[in-house]
Amino acid sequence: MTTLPAKLQAVLVRVARAASEYGRDPAGIDLLAVSKAWPAADIREVAAAGQRAFGESFVQEGLEKMAKLRDLGLDWHFIGSLQSNKTRVLAEAFNWVHSVDRLRIGERLSEQRPASLPPLSICLQVNVSGEASKSGVAIAEARTLAHAVAGLPKLRLRGLMTIPARSDDFLTQRRPFRRLRELFEQLQADGLALDTLSMGMSHDLEAAIAEGATLLRVGTAIFGERNRA
Ligand SMILES: *Cc1c(COP(=O)(O)O)cnc(C)c1O
Repeated sequence: MTTLPAKLQAVLVRVARAASEYGRDPAGIDLLAVSKAWPAADIREVAAAGQRAFGESFVQEGLEKMAKLRDLGLDWHFIGSLQSNKTRVLAEAFNWVHSVDRLRIGERLSEQRPASLPPLSICLQVNVSGEASKSGVAIAEARTLAHAVAGLPKLRLRGLMTIPARSDDFLTQRRPFRRLRELFEQLQADGLALDTLSMGMSHDLEAAIAEGATLLRVGTAIFGERNRA
């Protein structure tokens, strides 16, 4: 059985290879270990190997693991779908939320972020492929939403996130990532100080790196296959 530290190391090697192949500075590509469905003990093992940022998709599950791992001082990113009645715990407990796709959610997170904490880091989730079943703001509405969210006092808009339709073809994988990068560059040209393109998962992280990803969200390749979620 491959150990968790060895799987983490293998992902870091993939990232370094892809960075070199596509002319990217590896220092500009961070890894978010997506730990949804995996127990706190596994996170502890991966953290001991040097990983600091972990992603969770379910609020309650994330809070329970945070409580068990408080001694480690990890960074917690919420990447799941957002419900209005869950924003308060998110604003209080997480460092990042990647899945903001409407202004009302942003406003609630800003209102509910405790004054004692630094601003909550935010990515807007963009539905690049336009699939009706997917959450995320439509490309055509993303610019207006970005400017509105950037003006909220207790949030820091960091960038954009997307979950494209799954494909095993490299060129097909690159297309939605390129579209997200173009939107990102347009927002930067508007004057928004964005630094994060959250894109790329276990099966398509090379394509995301080729298109400028700065934050990869990787679960399966580090922790193994999930039976749920
Ligand atoms: C589960 C999940 C991931 C990780 O996917 P893997 O294929 O396991 O790497 C990344 N991003 C989001 C939003 C997820 O829900």
